[in-house]
Amino acid sequence: MNEKTSASRSFPRRVSDALLDLLFPRECLIYGGAPGDSPYRFLSKRGRSTLKFIGDDCCPACGAPRAGIISEHGECVCCRDRKFRFGRSRSLVVFDVYASRLVHAVKYRAVHAAAEDFAKIATESESFSAYLTGATLVPVPLFTLRENKRGYNQSRIFAEALAKYIPRSRVENLLVRTRDTGTQTLLSAASRRINVRNAFCVPEKLKARVEPKTRYVIVDDVFTTGSTLNECARALKKAGANAVDAATFAHG
Ligand SMILES: [Zn+2]
Repeated sequence: MNEKTSASRSFPRRVSDALLDLLFPRECLIYGGAPGDSPYRFLSKRGRSTLKFIGDDCCPACGAPRAGIISEHGECVCCRDRKFRFGRSRSLVVFDVYASRLVHAVKYRAVHAAAEDFAKIATESESFSAYLTGATLVPVPLFTLRENKRGYNQSRIFAEALAKYIPRSRVENLLVRTRDTGTQTLLSAASRRINVRNAFCVPEKLKARVEPKTRYVIVDDVFTTGSTLNECARALKKAGANAVDAATFAHG
């Protein structure tokens, strides 16, 4: 668990930690209660052990754990007939009831500091960390009005936390959402695709920052059908990017 910016906890860092404890008391977001001697702010050791890490043995397209039926080309059944605009996607953990408690805490309860725990956990997976090393992380954007209402974008918070811990990674907010696509939660896979089609772009003023030789990794909290990530990849490639992959905290 290496933080790029400071190897040891300096005095100012200890003070800011104490302030954080005061403002956002430590608790395990999975099991509740104090996390005890856990190295994480919002995850007990028991909670950490509950998360199901996906690792390298996953679908080469969407990163799903290799539990379902695999096609002759190696993709999972969901990807067999799909061609994504991103090269591949990787997720750190399975999106089960436990991982969803962490994701929802960042997304709806504004427990932003929990994203730091996500990033720390990401560095504990050698393959996931290697996958992101040296990449330019591009968060999936919210529609401006939605972000203003919520006050933050959880994907950006996750990307920024990752960039603190993953070597030679950085965040570039290159994408905007051109319309409010609402929540995708209740939509079928086909409806999701239609709903987000061409919903993202790289604004004119940012196009000069897209470098053909840079490897971009679009970051979101959860991979569901891949439709949103697919459209983000489409927009980045249209603006001149060549190498575009995706990464999410959870897959489900
Ligand atoms: Zn797949």
